[in-house]
Amino acid sequence: MDFRPTEEQEFIRQAARDFAESEIKPGASQRDLDAEFPVNIVKQLGELGFMGIAIPEEWGGTGAGHMAYVMALEEICRVDAGVGVIMSVNNSLACEPIYKFGSDYIKENFLRKLASGEQLGSYALTESGAGTDAGSIKATAIKDGNEYILNGSKAFVTNGDSCDVTIAYAKTDPEAPSGKGISAFVVEKGTPGFNVGKHEDKLGIRCSDCVSITFEDCRVPAENLLGEEGKGFKIALATLDIGRLGIGAQAIGIAQACLDESISYSKEREQFGKPISYFQAIQWKLSDMAMEIEASRLLILKAAWMRDEGMRHTMESSMGKLLASETAMRAALQAVQIHGGYGYIREYRWSATCAMPRSLRSTRAPVRCRDS
Ligand SMILES: Cc1cc2nc3c(=O)[nH]c(=O)nc-3n(C[C@H](O)[C@H](O)[C@H](O)COP(=O)(O)OP(=O)(O)OC[C@H]3O[C@@H](n4cnc5c(N)ncnc54)[C@H](O)[C@@H]3O)c2cc1C
Repeated sequence: MDFRPTEEQEFIRQAARDFAESEIKPGASQRDLDAEFPVNIVKQLGELGFMGIAIPEEWGGTGAGHMAYVMALEEICRVDAGVGVIMSVNNSLACEPIYKFGSDYIKENFLRKLASGEQLGSYALTESGAGTDAGSIKATAIKDGNEYILNGSKAFVTNGDSCDVTIAYAKTDPEAPSGKGISAFVVEKGTPGFNVGKHEDKLGIRCSDCVSITFEDCRVPAENLLGEEGKGFKIALATLDIGRLGIGAQAIGIAQACLDESISYSKEREQFGKPISYFQAIQWKLSDMAMEIEASRLLILKAAWMRDEGMRHTMESSMGKLLASETAMRAALQAVQIHGGYGYIREYRWSATCAMPRSLRSTRAPVRCRDS
């Protein structure tokens, strides 16, 4: 067993880190506050090949595999998980199902543009009454000649307003039981009857838009059917397997940012005449964070490796996503504790991933000042 990344994977990881530090970090905190979609950053991510990392080059992607994908995504999310989720949805939830299930027509017309970053994709499965129980969706797609007519509402669509196309799931057989009679469609945003609704006011990852979409007699060409009619739920679930890899990598990036900032702050902040990093209680927190991050990373990398090897990885990506998400929550909690009272102050606002801008740290809160 060889745990070393290949030269290509290491190159991609480093390129993502450099881009995140130099191009994403400046302004990340403000964009998060303002819920401002980072148009130029997303464009550059496409030019650098980060919007279709695992999609073969013949279809406009980078062809570097899923291990490179999760490594790059972690680096982006370490600086701004909002940018990361935009990238993750395009890679995992838009490009992957088209690559795996799309006809040559669909690949030719949509995949090339999505994987190269020329266009942005989204994934519309959830409805207000169908979340965890996604099989119980109510949106319909009724065939009419060479078209399907879509009706219904989707909730929580990440990239839903900024996207060019969405993968929408709807019942082609409305009488079929839950999870059956569902089909997937590639729907272009400009199509009449594709209406973008409310923008959710999220607690975090705010630079990525998350909206409701309503389909009102939205006519979609029959050739935009993804895979077979009635087999769409299988596509939705297969897509979530790879989606979990992305969200797991996102959580690892967030946790790593919490650890990096906590180490750095604990070395600077002095109490009782020495940096707080000298105290064992702080060291325990830091080492627990590091241990959990490493375990999460290994699990997500294993799931990504299994995908690259063509193996089923539903269990590994589910476990990896859960472990990484809980690791990120614990790391954020510990980071707030290590930053003491400043961890609770908005002026000390960290960027979207808790990476507190250094300028703010030095000007707003000298590390040797007394807590008030
Ligand atoms: C920021 C964000 C972005 C999103 N992006 C997208 C997107 O791009 N596309 C998309 O389609 N969806 C998206 N979603 C929707 C997401 O997939 C759903 O929120 C998720 O599936 C959960 O559904 P729900 O919110 O309706 O919760 P519910 O299903 O109502 O669950 C509520 C609670 O009940 C628990 N629960 C449910 N069923 C059971 C059970 N059988 N046993 C025990 N507990 C249970 C759940 O774990 C949860 O704690 C997004 C959501 C968020 C918050």
